[in-house]
Amino acid sequence: MAKLKVIKKGYLRILGGIVAGASSTVSFIQNDKKIIVDTGVSKDRKEIITGLEKEGIGPEDIDLVINTHPHGDHMGNNNLFQNAVLFENRDSKKICDDVEMIHTPGHTSNCYSVLVKTDQGRVAIVGDLIALEDDLDSGRKPYSFDFELQKKNREKILEMSDYIVCGHGGMIEKK
Ligand SMILES: [Zn+2]
Repeated sequence: MAKLKVIKKGYLRILGGIVAGASSTVSFIQNDKKIIVDTGVSKDRKEIITGLEKEGIGPEDIDLVINTHPHGDHMGNNNLFQNAVLFENRDSKKICDDVEMIHTPGHTSNCYSVLVKTDQGRVAIVGDLIALEDDLDSGRKPYSFDFELQKKNREKILEMSDYIVCGHGGMIEKK
């Protein structure tokens, strides 16, 4: 089974309907590979390094960086991981044991989710498919390329997982 840790929780500040500040959640997966999913914005650098230190590793130990989608607030520290391969989001793929990636468009046409099998259950790191913990309840319409498609992919992901790591929030248990 893979281990998963939210290294840095993201945030999304909306003031008067306008995004006033945003940085993605940064997740760390450890199995036969060490993987970072999304890398926040550049000012998060120190917090990411500190978070990895707590896991007993440094940025140089990361093998693979995955961005759930190519937006700046999810990619700001890609260059911190000098020894890592940047995973190109092209097809749905098995990444390593217990970790796979699936195409979940809606927020953008190029959005992916990472599914991780852990001892606690199946966790889906979904990026901005579900940006905040209350996205599913609030009825808030996110900034999306295709919201109807996004809703379908949310349902699909919820069927496949026990826990969700939100793109700009923490981990939630599926109801
Ligand atoms: Zn985002």
